[in-house]
Amino acid sequence: MSHNEQAVENLREYIRIPSVHPNVNYDDCISFLRRQAKELDLPLQVVSPVPDKPTVVLTWAGTQPHLPGVLLNSHMDVVPVYREKWVHDPFGAQRDADGNIHGRGSQDMKIVGIQYLEAVRRLKESGVRLKRNVYISFVPDEEIGGVDGMQTFVNTTEFKNMNVGFALDESMPYPGEEIIVFYGERSTWQIEVHCPGTPGHGSMLADDTAAEKVRVVLDRAMDFRDKEKQRLKDDSSLSPGDVTSLNVTMLKGGVQNNVIPPALSVVMDIRIAPTVDHRQFESMLQQWCLDAGAGTYIEYQQKGITEGVTKLDDSNPWWTAFKSATDKRKLILKPIVCPGGTDARFIRRLGIPALGFSHLNRTPILLHDHNEHVNEKVFLAGIEAYCEIIPALGNVPDH
Ligand code: ZN
Repeated sequence: MSHNEQAVENLREYIRIPSVHPNVNYDDCISFLRRQAKELDLPLQVVSPVPDKPTVVLTWAGTQPHLPGVLLNSHMDVVPVYREKWVHDPFGAQRDADGNIHGRGSQDMKIVGIQYLEAVRRLKESGVRLKRNVYISFVPDEEIGGVDGMQTFVNTTEFKNMNVGFALDESMPYPGEEIIVFYGERSTWQIEVHCPGTPGHGSMLADDTAAEKVRVVLDRAMDFRDKEKQRLKDDSSLSPGDVTSLNVTMLKGGVQNNVIPPALSVVMDIRIAPTVDHRQFESMLQQWCLDAGAGTYIEYQQKGITEGVTKLDDSNPWWTAFKSATDKRKLILKPIVCPGGTDARFIRRLGIPALGFSHLNRTPILLHDHNEHVNEKVFLAGIEAYCEIIPALGNVPDH
């Protein structure tokens, strides 16, 4: 079998492992990766700081292993499927006549894990040795927030001993020529705004009712949302991750049609752009409560910290190396702030630069959607891209 045929078969085999939520069993992923590691002649370790939540790490030792190493990360888990909506079996990894490989994880992100392995296979076979250690990690539970996955893994001694200097993780598909690169993420706040008020009979026109306060809160929130929407529309240089999104996701309260409730509340999901000052943002929310009236307060259900961004300029030698490698492959990069969340944030929080890069241009955006698939040409071109990128990163001079 040729390298390319082998790569396609490995991707298909990995997709056939149903590492799907909820309650993922990662055993078959581990066995698959053990076999890959053996073929690649790379040591493999399984780190399970939380039972049944293993992180698998393959290490390709560099000639100067004391230098900070390069982490090539991917997650093993995939999101659930609506089977009846799929044309092909989501865990069948069928290859159609056009060379499309169908299945959950074909974009998000089993493809990327296989591309790392196949690129390292080719580099090793052609006798390449890199200065820095290269770690290929496969983590659990990214799709449910990474709490028992990457978030825990980065606090283990095993991770600290790896001395990671830079990491690659996932981005997302793009139908055009460009390849999306994530250099930062937004911060998630989920809040419940409690609006207490005068209760009473549904026929009364009481003062200071909960609904009057809800109205003010909704007005402020929707005005803010309109402004951010408009900003995104007016400036073509902005992508959705560059503005703050706000959505009202729940309205709670009330017991019966003819009872004015003693309280109502508004739940919001807010994703704060990395350029926003969190203290200022919080005072804006406080002002909304003051405007709404006495007793209105915010309960924070999630209050993310300010997420740092990875610099995309000459001050960051990892970026320079990455960019020159992708230039060599004539790839057109589209660097953006990730509109959602990935495991890269746990790396950046340690002060380690990280980029999200999934070689998925000319690909419809079907991650988490029905009929997720990738064309094998895009998959194979990605392996060649990593054959430039990995050596460039692994040979970044000591700085
Ligand atoms: Zn993903």
